[in-house]
Amino acid sequence: MLSNKKIRMLELLDKQVGTCQKCSLSPNGTAIPHWSPVSKYVIIGEAPGYNEVRNKTPFVGAAGKILTDLLGEIGFKKSEFLIINSVQCRPVEGNRNAKPNLTQLSVCQHYIRKYITVINPEKILCLGNYAKYIFTEDITGILRQRGVFKTLSLREKEYPVLFTIHPAYCIYNQEDGVPMLREDIKLFKDTEFEKESEWLFTEDEFTIF
Ligand code: URA
Repeated sequence: MLSNKKIRMLELLDKQVGTCQKCSLSPNGTAIPHWSPVSKYVIIGEAPGYNEVRNKTPFVGAAGKILTDLLGEIGFKKSEFLIINSVQCRPVEGNRNAKPNLTQLSVCQHYIRKYITVINPEKILCLGNYAKYIFTEDITGILRQRGVFKTLSLREKEYPVLFTIHPAYCIYNQEDGVPMLREDIKLFKDTEFEKESEWLFTEDEFTIF
């Protein structure tokens, strides 16, 4: 259960994300990260699409349905997760969804790292190449790197991170995509790590890091 102080920090971060104008994506609409007072894991996606910015929340379209169904099937509740994207605003080309560029990704990392620090998750699941990029600076090769836990060091703490495919892959590759994603989410559920101690910080410190 997150403390009241952490909940206040997350609310503050939500506000910062909702009013952010740090990159060219901000006029396109924003999905505010999803979390609840019992969030203890993190999922990182790619970018919000039309449905997500309309609803201001991540993963509510077709890819979101695949993800939510698999999480439920494997025994997770959505409330156990902070769900955040690699960029919080929608990349578009004309009217269509586009891919975020490296500048947009690096600007938004700042928020992702803050959310992770506050949640202090037991483990992190990265969906697709863009989420993997945040930790590896390598935007290719999710199929070769999926299914193995790696370690993320962040503010003197270490978090287990599992890379897997993005659920959108499953829309076009149902036959191999769904079993792969299911296998990795199951691995994510079944692998236990000892939780590291809390990283302590004051509210003042939080506002400046
Ligand atoms: N795909 C993502 O990566 N994120 C969303 O929020 C929706 C679809």
